[in-house]
Amino acid sequence: LPKTVGWIGLGAMGFPMAANLVKKLSNDTQFFVYDVVQDFVDRFVKEGGERVHACTSAKEVADKSDVILSMVPEGSHVRAVYLTPDTGVLASDIEAKILIDCSTIDTGTSLAIRDETASKHPKARFYDAPVSGGVVGAEKGTLTFMLGSSESNQDIQFLKTLLSLMGGNIFPCGGSSLGLTAKLCNNYTSAMISVATSEAMNIGITAGMDPRVLANIFHTSTAQSAICDDWCPVPGISPDAPSSKGYKGGFRVGLMKKDVGLAVDTAKRLGVKLALGEPGLGVYEGAARDPRCEGLDSRVIYRFLGARED
Ligand code: NAD
Repeated sequence: LPKTVGWIGLGAMGFPMAANLVKKLSNDTQFFVYDVVQDFVDRFVKEGGERVHACTSAKEVADKSDVILSMVPEGSHVRAVYLTPDTGVLASDIEAKILIDCSTIDTGTSLAIRDETASKHPKARFYDAPVSGGVVGAEKGTLTFMLGSSESNQDIQFLKTLLSLMGGNIFPCGGSSLGLTAKLCNNYTSAMISVATSEAMNIGITAGMDPRVLANIFHTSTAQSAICDDWCPVPGISPDAPSSKGYKGGFRVGLMKKDVGLAVDTAKRLGVKLALGEPGLGVYEGAARDPRCEGLDSRVIYRFLGARED
């Protein structure tokens, strides 16, 4: 395992993921961290102790670390992290270092950065490794990693060992950008199940059914899903779901809008026909800009669809 680790992006996911590495890697591993928000860097350095060092750019992180991980919101941010002249990761003399981007972004951006890495630094390797499991999974170290690599890749054992410190399930998806493809397929499915569950529950409730009875029927029938069981969009069904806490916590509707949009774009690029893509995306776009829903858990689409919450 590396003696120096770099981390770029200390937000809702990046902070607890990096904290797990600090906790689980040996005492002689040093950490170099950067975020555009100085407060996040200061708090991470304070909590991480003397093995954690603040950096003032992505390049400085790359200069000082053997392996560099990033966790930022969108493709534009990933481009900024890696490609900004003078201060980006690729401005550093990274030689044969390993770069791992865990952000959920479009496959085109990820492949462009992989190619730019290979052309500037032929011995360095760039991997996409997006995650599923949310902030709770990041804190508990139980994330699922979808890795843009094959099982036979030269770095696979290293990647599995390092990533397993943040999550138990690591799936090599076959090659560059296929980790991202897998992540977008998962979130597209989950997003559409949420829409269908919200709409179906709304039909039943409006017709006079008790939503708890309907949820129990789903649970034991073909409409069963993790969305219905653990993340029910209807308040008061799953006690620990964000919907039962005013849609606070969970996975922000703006992030789900981004991921559904990326899945729809990927399908278009591949020539794959989608029946649910555009209308489903419209639901998330509408909810993300609706003042009653903005910034809340994505299952708030139930509220956006005009359903009763009492
Ligand atoms: P966030 O907005 O909480 O954190 C992102 C961090 O990146 C922020 O601290 C921001 O300041 C920093 N940042 C932005 N641009 C930067 C730059 N150029 N250099 C350095 N730092 C920069 O977002 P998040 O919830 O942590 O999500 C990050 C990624 O993980 C997204 O792609 C998201 O889709 C994905 N994801 C999120 C969840 C979740 O539950 N939140 C779950 C799975 C995957």
